[in-house]
Amino acid sequence: MARITLVRGDITEQSVDAVVNAANSSLLGGGGVDGAIHRKGGPEILEECRALRASRYGRGLPTGRAVATTAGRLPARWVIHTVGPVHSAGEDRSDLLASCHREALRVADELGASTVAFPAISTGVYRWPLRDAARIAVETVQATDTAVEEVRFVLFDDAAYAAFAERIAAP
Ligand code: ADP
Repeated sequence: MARITLVRGDITEQSVDAVVNAANSSLLGGGGVDGAIHRKGGPEILEECRALRASRYGRGLPTGRAVATTAGRLPARWVIHTVGPVHSAGEDRSDLLASCHREALRVADELGASTVAFPAISTGVYRWPLRDAARIAVETVQATDTAVEEVRFVLFDDAAYAAFAERIAAP
């Protein structure tokens, strides 16, 4: 099982093997984490994303799946793009949010990444309540068999950090 660490900060500044992107299924960029990664990482990442759209993912990357590209100019080797579910009050999509974490770790294992930084997937534009997202993220990482040594959750603000810290402390 990977060791879990928490950092308050910007995911684009993490020196890790792989950075997870809270992408959208187009893979062609967006706001939040996605926008920051493409802005800082430069055009190489988008080029590889376009190539993925032209080959394996003609209809886009399905929700809950993950795929890797270069990290361009980020201080990381790879970006692992995953598409979180939009939160829904009427439908339980927890499994898809868990799948994002499992699939990102599976891709990290394929790459041989030993340190991986995750943002709080789905908690921005996709409106997932922070405490519930933190529970799903931490439980899933704890339950996933992986060779990744460190999973670093990188939380952008105090509220997100507190939600993850509370969950890590939970028995
Ligand atoms: P989603 O569409 O999956 O909700 P967002 O990128 O909108 O993804 O937001 C996911 C989380 O990432 C939010 O909690 C947001 O505050 C946070 N966030 C935004 N920018 C950054 C960044 N540069 N580094 C780390 N976290 C970020």
